[in-house]
This record gives sequence, structure tokens and C-alpha cells, in this order.
Amino acid sequence: MHSDEIQALLKVKATPRVHEDEQETRFNGKPQSKRCSTWLLVCDCILLGYFCFYWNGLPSLRLGATFNSSIEGSDPLRFNYTCVPSQACWPTTNQWADFNRTINGHLKLTVPWAAPCYAGSDGCQQVTTNYMNSSARTSQYGAMEFLDWESCGLSSCMLNSFSPSAPVDGTCSLGRLSTYHVEAHTANDVQKTLNFVRAHDIRLSIKNSGHDYFGRSNAANSLAIWTRNMKNARYHKTFQATGCQSTLENVGEIGAGISAQEAWEFFEPLGMLVTVGATGSVGVAGGYGQGGGHGPLGPMYGLMVDNAIEFDVITADGRARTINACSPAEDAELFWAMRGGGGGTFAVMISYKFQLHPAVPLNVYSFQASFPVPEGQLDITESVVHRDVIRALASNQALFASHGMAGYNFVLPDHMVSLQILPSTNTELIKNITSSYNKFLSRYPGLNITENAYYTFHKFSEWYAFAQTPSIARNGPVGVGISESGRFLPKRLFSRPQAVEKLVDAVVTAMQISFTNGGGGAAQLYATGPFSQPVNSGTGVNPAFRDALWEVIMGGIWTSNTPESVRRQIRNTISTSIGPFKALTPGGGCYMNEGDWTEENWQQTFFGSNYDRLLEVKRLFDPSGLFNCWKCIGWSGYDE
Ligand SMILES: Cc1cc2nc3c(=O)[nH]c(=O)nc-3n(C[C@H](O)[C@H](O)[C@H](O)COP(=O)(O)OP(=O)(O)OC[C@H]3O[C@@H](n4cnc5c(N)ncnc54)[C@H](O)[C@@H]3O)c2cc1C
Repeated sequence: MHSDEIQALLKVKATPRVHEDEQETRFNGKPQSKRCSTWLLVCDCILLGYFCFYWNGLPSLRLGATFNSSIEGSDPLRFNYTCVPSQACWPTTNQWADFNRTINGHLKLTVPWAAPCYAGSDGCQQVTTNYMNSSARTSQYGAMEFLDWESCGLSSCMLNSFSPSAPVDGTCSLGRLSTYHVEAHTANDVQKTLNFVRAHDIRLSIKNSGHDYFGRSNAANSLAIWTRNMKNARYHKTFQATGCQSTLENVGEIGAGISAQEAWEFFEPLGMLVTVGATGSVGVAGGYGQGGGHGPLGPMYGLMVDNAIEFDVITADGRARTINACSPAEDAELFWAMRGGGGGTFAVMISYKFQLHPAVPLNVYSFQASFPVPEGQLDITESVVHRDVIRALASNQALFASHGMAGYNFVLPDHMVSLQILPSTNTELIKNITSSYNKFLSRYPGLNITENAYYTFHKFSEWYAFAQTPSIARNGPVGVGISESGRFLPKRLFSRPQAVEKLVDAVVTAMQISFTNGGGGAAQLYATGPFSQPVNSGTGVNPAFRDALWEVIMGGIWTSNTPESVRRQIRNTISTSIGPFKALTPGGGCYMNEGDWTEENWQQTFFGSNYDRLLEVKRLFDPSGLFNCWKCIGWSGYDE
């Protein structure tokens, strides 16, 4: 944007954001907060001429966060950054323009992605064609991966996910998106933005890809830093981290905005593998690389945070720091915290340096089958076929893990998809390891088998193309509304037949809860954790990750056509359906990036015994709570 444009665009009415009363809904006696329940209309049509924005606010009524007894006294930080338009603290037009000059014109006005469809203008077709395409969504600030975080009560700019060309009525509005965002290209852009929000007491949000399941990458009333365009990538044949004695080989270095696909496309021609996840559009250095980061290489090479070597960051005081395990004590502690303690919490990541792995083939066993349809109503808890296939997988899981084999398993009411992935130069080994599982599935009476095959992919990109086939990829939809819940299932649950039976019970019970209450009934059983890296001391990640053989995920989706009462039911169902797994794992945990945003016992569940130490680091580096996100370390509570 040129400065005359910004002068014009910044003639926004100084309109206060509306604080909303948070309502509470109850399901099975469990309180659940609504992130954005009511709204007030204030049109600001002068911005782009063709649509209005609703100004939205976040809940203002403090319900009081509940704290686990083990961390009593670990109070959240006070949330200081509360300036809203029309208050004296809000920058004047000239101040915005001056700020914009200091960041080379990178201050942008946010336009919701689907705005052209509400205006009936040319750009609409590009949106409707790509509405459920995650890469298209990540390439603009004005879209999130999930409709939940584009909307705020009735304020949104949604299309119908499965029929995006259907006519829309109503008004396109910003929902939870920031009015302005900084399209950051350099560390200087980030530093200047932190100084600006600090000076004006404005809330900050940081967005990379917008994949976050908790909506932690945007916030109403905030000035957003969008890191997606920080695209540098570099390969170091040898690398010496600052202050360290040893020299490492095969080190990758990427800017904060590089996606998983961009990372492997850069490093694959160099003969190197990166420990990315299952989806190409997820960022590497943001929430993924700071919250954990599991994927098909996880059991062999560990999480993304296990492979982290050094970070370049900007802390809340605006200072640039290079941090690693050899840094002076406090910076080393910050490095530890940013290896698993979560994105958006401790500092802004600028550059992420990590261990690469010389490429080996990815050998895959792929099995897909549909189940016999029972006469009458399906009761999954009574379904012998569901129990048998889940038992077969669970009974083999310890063996699979011991070889560094990863697994993505989707069990649905009427079918299953089971993928086992072994990175190895021995392309026959996977057949030996899976022979008993294969025999069981191949001979199981009544299964309608649609795929039962072994593949060897010599390149990571080939594996990824395979995983994009609709029967697999449809298990991770975007461009819809979503509810998720998750749980780590520790090794002990796989060790003896009696334990496995309890595990099987939990899976079918969870599926049945979901199935009969509008959640769809699917269970996702991921075996992509860090089995080869049992020691957690170097990272701030939830220790429960290390001990888990499965991460189970329950999920349900909604679209713009789904009435609010049904969306609420889906959310409650998905929260409740994780109950059987919680009952099996008292004191256990969940991956902070793939959990339930309504989780009450979030400190214990997402961070485990690392919570207190992470909070100390937070207090040290961000005492005023400049970085504040939903159920992140130091979260200010329900009045955020
Ligand atoms: C379709 C899909 C597939 C997924 N697959 C996997 C998977 O295979 N493995 C896995 O581990 N997870 C997976 N996830 C979860 C994923 O790890 C999280 O959604 C993660 O938060 C994404 O990080 P991001 O930076 O891309 O997203 P964003 O939503 O942009 O950011 C997430 C969080 O990180 C913060 N953040 C972003 N950039 C920075 C930065 N530069 N500095 C500081 N904070 C920053 C944000 O403020 C926010 O709090 C998946 C999610 C989806 C939706």
C-alpha cells in the first residue's frame, strides 16, 4: 500500500470494539465457554466501498480459569494490551501512517477472502474454486483454515463449504480477523510492530498459516503480524550453532513463513528429509515447530522440536536474539521453552534451524476396506468387525513403533483407512513387520477390501502425492467449521491383552458417542509420535508425548448451513467423546496443537509437568503479557 492509499484507508471511524458477555453452555454438566457469542453491528462501509464490517469483540465476563491443583499459585499474567478504537491510546491516522513508513509500507488492510462473492465481483470464482483448498487459504491473511475463526457470532464472510457457488445473502464482515495486519518480510518489520503495539497498548496476534485449531492465530481488536511471506531457506552442509563447540552436518534454515511443502521442495533436491507433518500447507516454524510437530518421520527421527538446533527470535522487548542450547542460561531456557511450549507465547520466531536427515525411501503399507452394514441401527460398541480391526492394530502397535514405523489410521462407522509408513533403505522390511497385521486383515471375512498394497516412495513428495488421494485426504478437511478433541494413549495400554481390550472398548465407545450425537463417529489413531526419542529434558513439549503410542483424535465438522444449535451439539459431542480415553489415562495429556479448545484442565492436559517451568520462562521474557493466546502459557483467562 502506498502512503496516500493508507491515508485514505485509515480514515476508519474510531469505533470501539464491542465487548461481549460470554455465555456458558452445559453438556453433561460440563461448562463450556463460547468464544464469540454475541455481536453488534457497526458498518464501516467507507473502507472498500462495497461491503460493511461488523466490529466484534471477545467475551468480557470473567468466568475464572480453573487451575489444576498441582499448579496452584501459577497465576496467569495480567493482560495489559486492551486499547480499542476511539480510546485516546488508539493511534491517530498520522501515527498509523508514520508506522507504515517504518515498515516499508507493509501495513495492510484486511479484506475477508470471500468478500468478492458478497459483492458479486470478478474475484469470486477464484474463491469458490479453492474454498476447501488449504494452500489457497494460507496464501492470504483474510482467510483462516476453519470457519470458526473467521466468524464471530453472526458476523462472518462465509460461503457454503460444499457448495461455495451457492448465492450468499447478508453482509460480509471481518468476524475475528484483524482490521489491519503487518505483512512481515523482515525482522525489522516485526521489531517495529512490537514497539508500536507496546507504545499504544494494542493487542498483538501472530498468524503464519492460520491452521490453529484453537483460533490462536487471530484475535479481534488486535494488530496482526502475518509471517507467511518470510520465505528464506538455506542448506548448511556443516553448521556451528552460536556459542557451541561442536560442528553439525546437514542443517536446514528456514524463515518463519515456510510451509511444510515449501520445505521439502527446497531440501528434497539436496537429498535431505525434513520432519514435517501430514499436510503441506502447515507452517514449519510457527505453531507446528514450537508446539511439537509430529509426522510420518516422527517415530524414526523425533518431533520437529527434537530436531531444532537454533532459533532467531524477537522477544517482547523488541530485542533480536539467537538462541540455542549453548546460549547463556536465560536464553537457553527460552530455547527450551520454544521447543514445545507453543507458538504465539514467548517470542516471534524469525528463523528456524534444524537437523535434516539424509533421504531414504518411504515404504508404505496401505489398507482400506468398507465394513458390512448391519441391519437396523449400527451400534459400534457391539460391532465385532470394529473391535477386531482396532484390536489387531493395537496389538501390533508396539512392534511397529519399535522399528520407527509411523501410522495414520482412520476408523469410521462404515470403513477404515490404515497407512503404515517405514522410512528405510530396506524396502522389504515393512512386509516382515506388518505380515501378521496384513494376514489378519486380508483374511478377515466380510471386509470389502478396496486397497491392500505395499508401495515404495523414493521421494517425500511422492509419498505426499499418494496421501492426497481423496480417500485419505478427506480425513483432514479445511474450509469448514471444526471441533476436535485428542488424547495421548501411553505404551502401557498396548502391553497386555487385557489392557488392549480396555483400549478397544474406549475407541468403540468414543465412536458411538460421536456417531449417535451428530459428530460423525470417526476416530483417528495417529502413530506419529517421537518413539525413538524418549528423553524429554531438552524440550518443553508435554512429556506425555514421549510415552504415547497413539494420539487419538475425535473430530466433527459443520458448514455455514448448519444451525448454531447443531454446531453447539457437535462441539459438545466431540468434547464428550474423548471422555472414554480420559478415563483410561487419568493425569494424562493431549497434544497442545490438536486438542479441544474448550478443555477445562488445559494446563495439565496440554503441558503436563512442564507447565510451571514454562510459566517461569514466560514471566521472564514477557512479563507484561504482550503475547497472549487462548490457553497458551500465561493465558490471561476468559476475559482475554
Ligand atoms: C489440516 C491440518 C493438518 C495438520 N497436521 C499436523 C501434523 O501432521 N502434525 C502436527 O504436529 N500438527 C498438525 N496440525 C496442527 C498444527 O501443528 C497446528 O495447527 C499449528 O498450530 C500450525 O502452525 P502454523 O504456524 O502453521 O499455524 P498458525 O495458525 O498460523 O499459528 C499457530 C500458532 O503459532 C503462532 N505462530 C505462528 N507463527 C509464529 C511465529 N513466527 N512466531 C511465534 N508464534 C507464531 C500463532 O500465533 C498461533 O498461536 C495440523 C493442522 C491442520 C489444520
